[in-house]
Amino acid sequence: MFEAAKADGISLYAHSGYRSYRTQKTMYYNRLKKNNGKDDGVVAVPGSSDHQTGLGIDVINKAGIGKKFTSAFGKTKEGIWLAEHCWDFGFIIRYQKEKEDLTEIIYEPWHLRYVGIQVSEYIRQKNYCLEEFTNEWQQAVFEFEN
Ligand SMILES: [Zn+2]
Repeated sequence: MFEAAKADGISLYAHSGYRSYRTQKTMYYNRLKKNNGKDDGVVAVPGSSDHQTGLGIDVINKAGIGKKFTSAFGKTKEGIWLAEHCWDFGFIIRYQKEKEDLTEIIYEPWHLRYVGIQVSEYIRQKNYCLEEFTNEWQQAVFEFEN
């Protein structure tokens, strides 16, 4: 994906991939401390982060290195490229703006989740978030078994 981006004149940077439970826990409690003990949905509860599965990755641009991630990334040429092409490589934008009620995580145009090409293309075509996809296949399995 990074090579395909490069061929389009887009330079992507992998920022954060796999995270241990301990790292996620530290990040979560640091966020709570910063936010007067309130969970604002910016950092996933330990045990529920995509990064802990090894399937989540934060992808940023050069301007974003060392800076706080903001939703403005989605409007950069790199963010736009990712939103258009990540699906072709088996990734989804995990936390879409219009799906915040379902994911319970704020819009994160930089956070990709690997699901494989068949699933990413299906999710794109249906305009689903991962929760909607999971509900649908769980329902299908239930119907098949009953
Ligand atoms: Zn992330």
